[in-house]
Amino acid sequence: MLSVAEARERILSHFQTTATESIPLVACANRVLAVDISAAYDLPLFDNSAMDGFAIRADEPSASSTTPSTTPSPSSSLRTRLNVVADIPAGSTPQVTLKPGEAARIMTGAQLPAGANAVIPVEDTDFHNREAGTAAPETVSFERKVKAGENVRPRGMDIHAGELVLKKGQALKPQDLGLLAMLGIANVQVYKKPRVALLSSGDELLEVDAPLESGKIRDSNSYTLASLIESANGEVLRLGVAKDTRESVEGLLQQAVREDVDFILTSAGVSVGAFDFVKEVIEANGSLNFWRVNMRPGKPLAFGKYLDKQFIGLPGNPVSAFVGFEIFVRPVLERLSGQLDGSRRKVRVRSEEEIESDGRESYLRAKIREENGILFAKLTGHQGSGNLLSLVQADALLIIPAGVKCVPAGQEVEALLL
Ligand code: AMP
Ligand code: MG
Repeated sequence: MLSVAEARERILSHFQTTATESIPLVACANRVLAVDISAAYDLPLFDNSAMDGFAIRADEPSASSTTPSTTPSPSSSLRTRLNVVADIPAGSTPQVTLKPGEAARIMTGAQLPAGANAVIPVEDTDFHNREAGTAAPETVSFERKVKAGENVRPRGMDIHAGELVLKKGQALKPQDLGLLAMLGIANVQVYKKPRVALLSSGDELLEVDAPLESGKIRDSNSYTLASLIESANGEVLRLGVAKDTRESVEGLLQQAVREDVDFILTSAGVSVGAFDFVKEVIEANGSLNFWRVNMRPGKPLAFGKYLDKQFIGLPGNPVSAFVGFEIFVRPVLERLSGQLDGSRRKVRVRSEEEIESDGRESYLRAKIREENGILFAKLTGHQGSGNLLSLVQADALLIIPAGVKCVPAGQEVEALLL
């Protein structure tokens, strides 16, 4: 039987990054950049004020020529009084050049006037009327030294023109979209979303809103899997549920082949049950690369082609389907969508309890907590592959390596964060 790593390598070797497209920035959340992004200009674009206050010339003659006050306290030892010669709201172009003895009222983000090299915040001046709509005063005074550059955000302080700011292969986060907007990039070259045809199989499966019937259960996998595909940047084409007959399975697979999808993803019907037709139909109409992996849960996992479409058959049990997706399908979607860094992180955690394993590479549902900088993991319930609640309550999958039969309490293991 194949190891998890071998199976994943085999699958991945059949997938290549898809084509790229240019889309509006507004649609770019989570999409993967297909190009490096360099800044076309400096940011900030111009010297501007970091505070609401007064633009001044720091250490100008009028500051040093003021009379020292009688109190020796350094904060009140000098007083600077300046004529306010302009009012500069954000968004305007300053029309003045400050001369010695002059200040300009200025708002946060407004361009600094020529001659100014510092901003004193309004709170540090004698101008107390700070309501919106008040006119600038004729003079302003303050009682402290102001250093050159104080409260000024100089042009290029954050980013220089030509600097590489975002890299090809990274999924765009909300703040990345903001940065692209700052740089005036209205359309972005991203990888196309992979498209996946999704189908369930089994005579026992009912739609979520159908009346319950004896012996039947609801098709839950298609909801979990569709959402997982979307979380990995894929587009889902839901084909519904195949019955446990050759004809029904073939019918839906045919439909998938006619669609413009990168691969077909199914759940159930790939084990050794008498009605597991999915595997059989793949063998008869395409090729089966493998159909079992040495893991738990999720041993029956099939990979191959139906006609000329790549096919991944996940196990039917809800937890197995989920784990199979995380281990084999998410990496495929990341490769197809050009994403270079995997989106699932692995950490080392200490097991709070002894864990028995059967020697297969195992993925166990656990809840992680942190204490004094150490991560501890506790299993969330019985590890039956149909027990979806224990997965709902988990925030990680503990990875017990192949060959390990027992993990003593307190031992460190690897965990895949969900
Ligand atoms: P199978 O691989 O067809 O033997 O299915 C294994 C187990 O998974 C059985 O208990 C099925 O009822 C269950 N199962 C299969 N498909 C689904 C599905 N779409 N939603 C929930 N459970 C399923
Ligand atoms: Mg079945």
